[in-house]
Amino acid sequence: MRANDEALGEVRESLGEGTNDDEHDPEGPTMSDEWSKLTGLQTEGENELRELDAALERIEKNEFGMCESCGNAIGRPRLEARPYTTLCIDCARKAEAH
Ligand SMILES: [Zn+2]
Repeated sequence: MRANDEALGEVRESLGEGTNDDEHDPEGPTMSDEWSKLTGLQTEGENELRELDAALERIEKNEFGMCESCGNAIGRPRLEARPYTTLCIDCARKAEAH
């Protein structure tokens, strides 16, 4: 699915990280490598990969960056910290307070 590469490019643009102009090689770095570069985090384990898949699905449906609960924009600082989050900070706090 080469849509993933395009989706990652969109994430970069939406996060304002346009400095990495490397051409994507279809046989090159794995998706998790790309994501690690993007977020500065190490992706470990299947849970994170599953969250990443879900995030890419949301990008394809143009729902990336929208709160799953209230529909508001999640906000760039939060997306930079957790690109695969599905809740805005307010809803995440409510969910944690539960
Ligand atoms: Zn929300």
